[in-house]
Amino acid sequence: MTCRELIRRASESFCAAGIPDPVNDAALLLSHLTGRPPLALRLDEETVLDPSVIDSFKSLAEKRLSRIPLQYLLGEAPFYGRMFRVDSRVLIPRPETELLCEWALELLKDRSSPRILDLCCGSGCIGISLKAELPSASVTLSDISPDALDLAAENASLLGADVALCRSDLLEAFSGTSFDLIISNPPYIPSADCDTLQEEVLREPRLALDGGNDGLSVYRRIVREAFPRLSPGGFLLMELGISEDEAVSALLSDYGYESIQIREDLSGIRRMILSTHP
Ligand code: GLN
Repeated sequence: MTCRELIRRASESFCAAGIPDPVNDAALLLSHLTGRPPLALRLDEETVLDPSVIDSFKSLAEKRLSRIPLQYLLGEAPFYGRMFRVDSRVLIPRPETELLCEWALELLKDRSSPRILDLCCGSGCIGISLKAELPSASVTLSDISPDALDLAAENASLLGADVALCRSDLLEAFSGTSFDLIISNPPYIPSADCDTLQEEVLREPRLALDGGNDGLSVYRRIVREAFPRLSPGGFLLMELGISEDEAVSALLSDYGYESIQIREDLSGIRRMILSTHP
């Protein structure tokens, strides 16, 4: 069977199973096995595939049909121009979170050696990207999940990022420390919605998604716990779930944070909130 034919067959079965991006997924799985670019594979009507490659492909395609996310099967996901290892221990990095990093870099461009905390770091994509873009920064990654921290450590070492890693239930482990930026993409999905998510998302760690009854539980704690851990003029920058901007903005202003600003993602969803310690 040729590359093109294998991709065509797999994408038909993916499509029938309701997988959102069938051709892309089939081509990326074959690219993962052959090391050749996905577009070249889609066009290749000549190369006859080795039976062992076809077998490996079939086993990956079976897994994809059971709705294991593509990125878990590939073992990696791109974020802010770099590849991060991912597996079922962590949330898969999302493109909207890249905008959060971009905002952080704008905020810190005139500060020398900023101290940054990536809270709920998961794969480490935010903190490692910031360290790579701002080598003078001192960056700490923290998460409550030891499994996530193991993978974040692996990513930091693969990407050559000299960061500190610390297991902590939100800011509990950080008494006596202060940061110029606390950045977080916290769990923000209301618990009741967590069971109705797209099948692939259900494969991601519940701990990384579930924001309690109204989705705001983790924000309530971060708002309170981050305040004494920020330097004067320090920033708290967080990603938001859908329609959470007003509630989180109220939490921040009630607590005494200043200069609250909101930005949209590329779909026009109010996705990020910035506030400043007085
Ligand atoms: N910071 C990681 C990310 O944005 C993990 C976020 C999380 O686990 N809630 O992908």
